[in-house]
Formats: sequence, C-alpha cells, structure tokens
Amino acid sequence: MCGIFGYSGKGNAPEIVVNGLKRLEYRGYDSWGIAYQKKNKIVLYKKAGEIGNFTCSRIIPKAPIAIGHTRWATHGRATKLNAHPHESVDGRFVLAQNGIVENFQELKSKLISKGYKFNSETDTEIIVRLVEDNLKKSDCLLEAVRLAFLDLKGRNTIILLERDKKHIVAVRNGSPLVLGIGGDGIYFASDTLSFADQTDRVIFLNDFEMAEYDNGKLRLFDVNSGEEILYKEKKLPQNSAGIGKEGYDHYMLKEIVEQKHTVREAVQYSQSELRPLIQAIKTAKNIYVVGAGTAGFAAGQIAFFLRKYGGIHAIELKSCEAGSYRNLFSKDDIVIAVSQSGETADTIETIEFAKEKGAKIGSVVNMIGSTITRMSDYGFLSRSGPEICVASTKAFTAQISWGLLIAKAVVGKYEEAKQSIYFLSEILQKFFDQKLFIQIQEIARRMVNIEHCFVLGKGQNSNIATEGALKIKEITYKHFEGFPAGELKHGVIALIEKDTPVISIVSNDDDKADLYSAVSEVKARGAWTIGVAKSKNDLFDDSIILRDAGIADPILNVIPFQLLSYFLGVKLGNNPDKPRNLAKSVTVK
Ligand code: GLU
Repeated sequence: MCGIFGYSGKGNAPEIVVNGLKRLEYRGYDSWGIAYQKKNKIVLYKKAGEIGNFTCSRIIPKAPIAIGHTRWATHGRATKLNAHPHESVDGRFVLAQNGIVENFQELKSKLISKGYKFNSETDTEIIVRLVEDNLKKSDCLLEAVRLAFLDLKGRNTIILLERDKKHIVAVRNGSPLVLGIGGDGIYFASDTLSFADQTDRVIFLNDFEMAEYDNGKLRLFDVNSGEEILYKEKKLPQNSAGIGKEGYDHYMLKEIVEQKHTVREAVQYSQSELRPLIQAIKTAKNIYVVGAGTAGFAAGQIAFFLRKYGGIHAIELKSCEAGSYRNLFSKDDIVIAVSQSGETADTIETIEFAKEKGAKIGSVVNMIGSTITRMSDYGFLSRSGPEICVASTKAFTAQISWGLLIAKAVVGKYEEAKQSIYFLSEILQKFFDQKLFIQIQEIARRMVNIEHCFVLGKGQNSNIATEGALKIKEITYKHFEGFPAGELKHGVIALIEKDTPVISIVSNDDDKADLYSAVSEVKARGAWTIGVAKSKNDLFDDSIILRDAGIADPILNVIPFQLLSYFLGVKLGNNPDKPRNLAKSVTVK
C-alpha cells in the first residue's frame, strides 16, 4: 500500500509534497517521511504515526525538489527508523517504495555476503543497497536503478531523489504511479487526486516503465530493454472538487450521505455503452465476479443480481481464493472485477490468471485511470467521486447499483433497473434526518460495551449482512459477524445467550418468513433483537424501519449499518476515517 509523492518545480517542494501525502494517507498512515534538497545535501524528515496537521513552516525550509512517502508497514515496525525514504550510505540518493520485495531474504543474504549493512528492518533498504551495488559498475543512477529493479520479485513501485541534481527517477510495477504535468512543475504520485487541484494533465505509467525527470526534462523508459519510450498525456475528466469534508466532522459521514446522489450516478450509462459488456456476458461460457473485502461482497451481490434477474449462472469469487480457478479459466469466460481503487493486488492477480487463458475482463472501479480499468476489455467506473474514508461506503452501493443495472439489462429490462435506482435515490433524499441519526446513535450507545453482535440476512440481503458486519468491525474493532440466516442453527446459535445483540435484515420478499423464524429462535434464547425491516414486528426489541425500495432494497438496507458503524466508532473514540491497521488501496498481497 503506501502513498508516494514527488515534486520538482517553481513551487515550494516540501510543502507541496506534505500536502500531497496528506491526500494519500488513505493508502497508509503508520509513519511518513520526506526528503528535500538543501544546498548540496539531501535532508530527511521522518516521523512515526500519522502526518495529521503537520505543516512545514518553521520546521522545513523552502526547496525546489522533494519526495515523500506515507507508509503502511509490511516489513518492520512502524518506527521512525523504518519510515521512508531510505538513504544510500554515501548520501547520493534516497528511495521510497510501495510494495513488497518478495525475494528480500535471498537478496539480503547476497548483499550481506558482499559486505553491505542494513539499518532498518524494511525490505526497502535492499533496493537501496542493490542500486548502490550497481553504481559500482556504472555511475549512471538511471541504469543502476533499472538493473536493481529487474532483480526484484513482487509488485513494487519506487521513487528516488538524487543529491546535487534536479533528478527524480521512478519505476512502476503493480502499484500505481502517475505523473502530473503542471505549469509550475512536475508531480509524481500514487494517484491523481493527490495533485488534481494543481493540474489535470497526467501521464499514467504502465508496469515496468520508468520515468526520469532530469533538470526539467522528462523521459520514459522500458525497464526490460532500457529503451526510451514515447508517452502520451491525458486530461483528467474529474477535478479535485469534493475532497473537502464540507462541514462534516468526518469524510465517512459525508460519504454516507452522498449516497443519495452517487447511486444515481452509477447507473448513468446508456444502453449502447453497456451493450458490449452485456453481449460478452450473454455469450460467455462462465461468468465470474471477483473482488476482495467490501468489493468482494459487492462482487457477491452483483453475481446474485445476475443470477436472480439476469438468469445468468454467475459465480462469485474472493480474489485471494481464486487460485484454484487458475486452470479453469478459458477464452470463453468473462471475469468481472470489482474494486474501489482498481489497484487491489489479489484482484489484479486473478485478472492476470484469467487473461493468461484468454478470458475477457469486465470491471467496475471507482478510481479513474486505475490498473484494473486499464487491464479490462469492458471497464466501467462506479462514479461515486473521491472516497477518502478508508472504509468504503458509497463505492459499495454504487457498484451494486451498477450490477443491478447490468443484470436487468441482460434481459432487456435496463429501464426498470434505472428507474428503481432513481426511486432509491429519491428515498435517500429524505433519509438522512435527525430522527434516524438519533435512533441509530441510541442503539450505538447501548452497544458500547458489547463484545459480539450477529447480523442475519438471506438471499438478496445475505451479502448485505456480511458487508454490514464488516463495516462495523472496520470502524469499531468489535466482533460483528454477518451470515445467511439459514446458517444460524448450524453453529452460531450456540453463541446466543441473554442480551446477545442480533440484527436481522428483512425485506418484503420470499425470505421474510425464514428470517422471522431465525429471529424467533434467537429471541427464545434471550437475544436482543434488532430489525432492519419494512415494518414493526413484536419479535424485534428495536426496529429501524426503512421504506421498501423494491428490487433496489438490498442497496438501501446496507446504509443503517454504515451509520451504526460510524456512530459507534465515534462513541468509542476511534477515528472513523482512518481505522487502525487498514489502508484503502490494498496493493500488496
Ligand atoms: N515494504 C515496505 C515497508 O514495509 C513498503 C510498504 C508500503 O508499501 O508502504 O516499508
């Protein structure tokens, strides 16, 4: 994971880099660091913990060139010593990395046998030493970096700053790297949002491409051959508007409320725009929908919609478990990848497996210009706008709204799906009121001391139950477990005792009676029963009553869980935007 940011130009580089890192913090926030040039030296400034409200003034002087990193530790603790950038022994360059050097043990032993020493516990320092070793053969930093990069296994993106010169080198493999070409200078970053307020002219690097900015001149190279390559600038379709908190205390609540519009945006695709994907789905032998975490539950829900409304035999896969399908994918199949960032390592690996076998790739991703979109034959955006809170809310509902549209469009009912999402958006216009907030806050207050909570759903609400529980785990660190209600008596009922909270999701559908049976069973054992339902029922001690959103009902049903997650997290003193141990863009396996 982690965020990388570099800048060279007329502006004050350390300040620009620090501001960029603040916008990249969703990618990792256990420590951070920047490196800038001062006279003929590189100065490092590193800290353990979040970047928070840090400002350069009085601490870091103005400088024309700097790079920075916000870390999500994979190798070595989140300490100042392990924070990036890491410096070469002679101080000639510093380097920051996003990713994991998978063959780090092997490389480290080789380097140790050559006499190299290591100061940190990171795999990053291995890259630094490898570059130093190559510099002994040739004095060219670019070539030394290229050769070192070819020795690395795993997905890695790196950035280097050279002392004495206006020289930045960056290489990409796996995790993203994008360049921003501004009027006043050049930006190197892990995403476009981090500099979108400065420029909309961008260059996306592909895997095994390398960028060099040397004294005002930008060149791109192929890492394998070392040959220079031509590049094309693109214009960003989206600016940075909407990435402030707009009066909310946290991004999470802002983004939850934004769902009243974002579900609608997600279905703004014309029938002709959807046609190639629909055709591919109709003619494919196997249809797999794949994702991880919240996007994994979105994949499950999209597969459900395809089966239920499209009559399509769609199989859902968890990206990290898709390995057993590696030999089963074929050129007649389609894999639909779901990801917020479009950079999820496990999902990318599944796409690679499927592509090896010639399968077609569809995707629904929230970030513009992502790796997954670029790997796709049929790439779609979920169009929810920037989602800054690490836990995904609006991207999830947008992706499943898009899935409902696809499923219905497969059977020629595009318009019906679109209208149902418009109706959902209408319901949401009046949904986020004080009455609902107070009710959910009150439930949250009574949950402050609980250890466990179970969430039941069935059929169309089964993935909603698992996603609802995941959201609450992410923000409150409490054990919430979601599962299909039918599984209750096959195990979990053993855990139900007096006052165990159980939340049940009940839509007006064929599964309603089964849900009520499950609620009776837990109530008989003393559970505190909470319904997310269409009407009151004596079986529920507390009920959150929602309108009936028809076929879009499961999309509506997840929202009370997002709110409960938020209010309970805040009550517990957690920062809902940056839950511990998590990062938004999971670019490592
Ligand atoms: N593997 C590196 C480390 O643990 C980089 C991790 C990251 O991508 O933040 O420092």
